Amino acid sequence: MQLHSLTIREIHQLLIARQVSSVELTRAFLQRIREIDPKVRSYVTVSEELALEQAQKADERIAKGENVTPLTGIPFSMKDCISTRGVRTTCSSKILENYVPQYNATVTDKLAEAGAVLLGKTNMDEFGMGSSCENSAFFNTHNPWDLERVPGGSSGGAAAAMAASLAAFTIGEDTGGSVRMPAGFCNVTGIKPTYGRVSRYGLIALVSSFDCIGPMARDAYDCATVLEHIAGHDPHDSTTYQFPVPNYTQHINQPVKGMKLGIPKEYFVAGMEAGVESALQEAIRTYEKLGMEIHEVSLPHTKYGLPVYYLLLFAEASANLARMDGTRFGLSVSEGAKDVIDIYLQTRREGFGDEVKSRIMLGAYALSAGYYDAYYLKAQKVRTLLRRDFESAFSKVDLLLAPTCPTTAFKLGEKTSDPLEMYLSDIYVVATNPAGVPAIALPCGFSNNLPVGMQLIGKHLDEATLFQAAHAYQQVTDWHKQTPNL
Ligand code: GLN
Repeated sequence: MQLHSLTIREIHQLLIARQVSSVELTRAFLQRIREIDPKVRSYVTVSEELALEQAQKADERIAKGENVTPLTGIPFSMKDCISTRGVRTTCSSKILENYVPQYNATVTDKLAEAGAVLLGKTNMDEFGMGSSCENSAFFNTHNPWDLERVPGGSSGGAAAAMAASLAAFTIGEDTGGSVRMPAGFCNVTGIKPTYGRVSRYGLIALVSSFDCIGPMARDAYDCATVLEHIAGHDPHDSTTYQFPVPNYTQHINQPVKGMKLGIPKEYFVAGMEAGVESALQEAIRTYEKLGMEIHEVSLPHTKYGLPVYYLLLFAEASANLARMDGTRFGLSVSEGAKDVIDIYLQTRREGFGDEVKSRIMLGAYALSAGYYDAYYLKAQKVRTLLRRDFESAFSKVDLLLAPTCPTTAFKLGEKTSDPLEMYLSDIYVVATNPAGVPAIALPCGFSNNLPVGMQLIGKHLDEATLFQAAHAYQQVTDWHKQTPNL
């Protein structure tokens, strides 16, 4: 039996039938990480001791039949920007290379309470800035489908770990596509929930008004299971919704017949790889066969999505990263410093990578007196237009279908010399974050033997519809079941 390739619910059945223990399962994953990860390089830190301790506790819970959840004893990994007490949390940055948090993120706590087993922390673009994982200060992660290609970013390590079966599920973070874009590149299912559905407490902030923590897993059903456990109101995060979390899995089998599926015409334009376009068209036909009504819709401000996203990101990120100054967390370069200003300068010069530095400078510029109105304020106004585009589309349809990226995974090094070229790969995923709406990415075919991803975008707080639609698709297709040959 290949334990590492099972879904959460298959593993759960084995665990409660006592056919396998969580300790055995965890050992099997740790062994596979030792064997496979030197090629893929998805993990920054493997928390072996903690994992075995949590697995032992999970087995005790299962033996007593007390407080057993669908996640009890299930091994997972987490993107390295989510705080884990006692386990290094680096954001793949030199500045936090040796930073060990003294507290857990709410999501970390919730998963621990559910009895899940943390295998380790996964690689990412530094502070979430990038679309290929090549901005990690430590090493590149490789796409398990072709080791010479990128896994996407910024949650590239999480997606690669999932695709290579190095965890039963992974937790990513999506500020502007970081769950969905790498999920598409690696043939993984992942969801960016509604902004405020999952607590950001303990997430090291990139853009506080965009950031969303979301799971990646083998299929939509597993993502729904994980989201049920991590979503909900948190007194530590005032932007979380008070509304109760629906039981997504209970309703996931409801038929999609009669649902109205919108195809945003601005997303199907020249520039998309032919194999991506044909996979998407095939997916639309599949939904038609499942009884959905297909409607063309317009999101007229789509062309402003990328500039608005990046402008607001630069601005908020420059403010958020001000706290990395050598006097509070992680790295402190004080040698030869005359005063505290020197410490700030030296630490940031040495600790941040080039992409982070350039975004901080652009953000500080956009926020400076004289430019604030022209850039930041203007971008905030256009952000409202982007949100209204979605509202108006959702007055006509129930959900939208779009690609996750215009291309399949590109080669390592192919886009590193041109940041604008890199930013363009985010074109389909960035508008949802300023708008706050949820979106699920799922595999929908292959182009030149590389995975193609699509995303379904939904109304605020309507993750349930996204899960139903993604699940219905995965009942009649098996793209999500394809795994790379490692
Ligand atoms: N590609 C996006 C960026 O570089 C990803 C951000 C994210 O979702 N963390 O900003």
